[in-house]
Amino acid sequence: MRAMVLERPRTPLVMRERSAPEPASGEILIEVAACGVCRTDLHVVDGELPNPKLPIVPGHEIVGRVAAMGAAVAGLAIGERVGVPWLGSTCGLCPYCRSGRENLCDRPLFTGYTRDGGYATRALADARYCFPLPERRDDAEVAPFLCAGLIGWRSYRMAGAGEGTGAEGTGPQALGLYGFGAAAHILAQIAAWQGRRVYAFTRSGDDAAQAFAKSLGAVWAGGSEEMPPEPLDAAIIFAPVGALVPMALKAVKKGGRVVCGGIHMSDIPSFPYRLLWEERQVVSVANLTRADAREFLTLAPQAGVKSEVTRYPLEAANEALADLREGRLQGAAVLIP
Ligand SMILES: [Zn+2]
Ligand SMILES: [Zn+2]
Repeated sequence: MRAMVLERPRTPLVMRERSAPEPASGEILIEVAACGVCRTDLHVVDGELPNPKLPIVPGHEIVGRVAAMGAAVAGLAIGERVGVPWLGSTCGLCPYCRSGRENLCDRPLFTGYTRDGGYATRALADARYCFPLPERRDDAEVAPFLCAGLIGWRSYRMAGAGEGTGAEGTGPQALGLYGFGAAAHILAQIAAWQGRRVYAFTRSGDDAAQAFAKSLGAVWAGGSEEMPPEPLDAAIIFAPVGALVPMALKAVKKGGRVVCGGIHMSDIPSFPYRLLWEERQVVSVANLTRADAREFLTLAPQAGVKSEVTRYPLEAANEALADLREGRLQGAAVLIP
């Protein structure tokens, strides 16, 4: 098998030839068909997340087919299409796991961070954390669902949305999305489908991103420092920019919530207490649970979510990461081995 490997943070990935691993008990070996490139991969490569397994194969938006199964794998078949997300495994024993919050597990493994991921022709995964994916649409277009979609969905739930489906969705009617990348471009479609008014905030002057947001159902798009035409019920920040926290607080109404959806953010500047006053809240979202994934993967086809992807060959992983870092992409980058 071939894999793009990070040997040391802040160095380019290198192509390595390896022998394909044997799946242990409970594991499956996947023939990778597509793997999305997530901003979290950039944080791993750029050394912004502590203690990655090294060397590491990044990538946690894997779509592929089961090539081999270890003992004790239930519910999957050879050749079946599966998706592998960021949450690679959990302990099942800690207080978080036992209270339905496996996303906060004390002893987790994360795909493409603490266990090898999908920037490769083959990948191993713990079968219990994989999801069967019906063959209804293109592998590359499904890949961004596995993290951008799932983390977006958990952030959306945290913003008070997500209850109910269809036009009867409850929760925030005016929803701000800061940073219009892979996650926001998926979530905007769901929010618009549920009848919410989506306000998209991008780097100021990024006309292409603003037009893209409007084409996906946003009623307004502008620069992050602008105030939306109506106060927001809630806002989700996907861009890794701490300065957006006080800006978003300024844009939400009394009792409104600002959700930070990323794993890493630059420092949040100090701000006057009056921005938080009146029961505004700032919360973060960490990882995902398998229940989040099942909900999202059921809802996305109902909402007719389409993902805009730019395909790169596996060996162009460094170029894909650079394009994401520089904001040269609309939607999501996907590697095709
Ligand atoms: Zn646990
Ligand atoms: Zn991700």
